[in-house]
Amino acid sequence: MKKFSCVQGCSDCCIYREYYPSVEFGKIGVLLLPEEKTAIERLAKKMNIKVKIVPRLAVGKEFPEKLIGYQMMGKNDDGDLCPFLDVGSSERSPHGGLSCRIYSERPLACRAYPVIDAGKAATLDGHCQFCKKFSTTKAETDGLQQEIEALARIKGSVTAGKIHVWRYATATGKAGDVMLPEGWTAES
Ligand code: SF4
Ligand code: SF4
Repeated sequence: MKKFSCVQGCSDCCIYREYYPSVEFGKIGVLLLPEEKTAIERLAKKMNIKVKIVPRLAVGKEFPEKLIGYQMMGKNDDGDLCPFLDVGSSERSPHGGLSCRIYSERPLACRAYPVIDAGKAATLDGHCQFCKKFSTTKAETDGLQQEIEALARIKGSVTAGKIHVWRYATATGKAGDVMLPEGWTAES
């Protein structure tokens, strides 16, 4: 069994954002639970860091009645680069990647990664450099207990009271991408 540890020097999951669930929805940001949003905004204000937080998921019958998740967008025009990643400093994380300026208070989604929810079960995100390097699966990887616990807390929160799920299109991505206008779309 391979023990999980970040690839030396990698900061990919703090830099690159994915189009999800498809290009037309735009790139997603870091998932924030409603109770995390205020804490992140407070930290950003204290540190004089500009953050853009938009809705991500809601539930409701005819319209998005209850917001169950927000997302913190990347600071670049194309949606990449977390505003809390310390790109201008020579300080490095223990594995040599760029350091997170709010590491001890980072969102649950950051704590969970590379464990993600693939619909039916938790799995490892194939975009993570560790997962690419070792072509590994969650079952073959040790040392992910904290990540799995963080994901379980996210799932317990965002699946509560589900009726219809509404997803917020971010309209953020590369110039020329064909995307929906920013706003809500009901998932079938
Ligand atoms: S979790 Fe994966 S993508 Fe993120 S820094 Fe570690 S190795 Fe890189
Ligand atoms: S909050 Fe920190 S750990 Fe999370 S994406 Fe930003 S820099 Fe990375």
